[in-house]
Amino acid sequence: MRIDVLGVGFDNLTLSEAVEKGCELLRREGTRYVVTPNPEIVEVCRENPAAREAVNGAALVLPDGIGVIRGAAMLGTPLKERVPGIEFAAGLLEKMAGEGMSLYLLGARPGVAETAAERLKERYPGLRVAGVHDGYFQEDGPIVADIRQSGADAVFVCLGAPKQELWMAKNGPATGARLLCGLGGSLDVFAGTVKRAPIFWCDHGLEWFYRLCSDPRRLGRMMKLPLFLIHVKREGRRK
Ligand code: UDP
Repeated sequence: MRIDVLGVGFDNLTLSEAVEKGCELLRREGTRYVVTPNPEIVEVCRENPAAREAVNGAALVLPDGIGVIRGAAMLGTPLKERVPGIEFAAGLLEKMAGEGMSLYLLGARPGVAETAAERLKERYPGLRVAGVHDGYFQEDGPIVADIRQSGADAVFVCLGAPKQELWMAKNGPATGARLLCGLGGSLDVFAGTVKRAPIFWCDHGLEWFYRLCSDPRRLGRMMKLPLFLIHVKREGRRK
């Protein structure tokens, strides 16, 4: 049972439940993918049916961002808690390292995935990195073939939204990996090129504001946030 927020169905799980579920998918036959939409992506999905289909087609849809939690509560169908993509990824990496599983990193500017790989191997001893590729490529075919050949158990797909969601929906099964996770700017954080907001900001639901201050170019994108709240209010009245 998913909780609907403006057409996107969210799984109602805590962070640790989500990680457990992710591990379960890693052990199961077949290929599945995880998405972590924030309000901005929900707004994109309202306007773009293909993006909405890709997002709702995921095996796990996790609420990244305090806005989604607030929106769900305003609609009278609260979600348990925020599940930031990067924290979900950290939980998964810990389990994968413990079992010697392998990971492929796809996305970000050239060089970033390599640095992220080095840092992740240091932080999670036992983790195997099967391969990396930057996110600025023209054709999917060679990338899919490289992932398949690497034999990776999981792939972190960090191409920004909705590109990564569409990419996973289209190419996921052909990669042969068990689990693909769409994680936006996470490789930049793992590589240390972008810093996550200090804990105070995250705890007070202000991570978005910290990110805006550190990168004012995000302002245009963030204008989707008030729009999201207006749409939630309107939807709430209709219920
Ligand atoms: N990116 C990419 N290929 C593209 C466009 C973007 O690899 O064609 C990368 C970009 O370098 C960045 C990430 O995708 O590392 C998107 O980061 P953003 O902060 O926009 O994502 P968010 O975490 O906000 O979803």
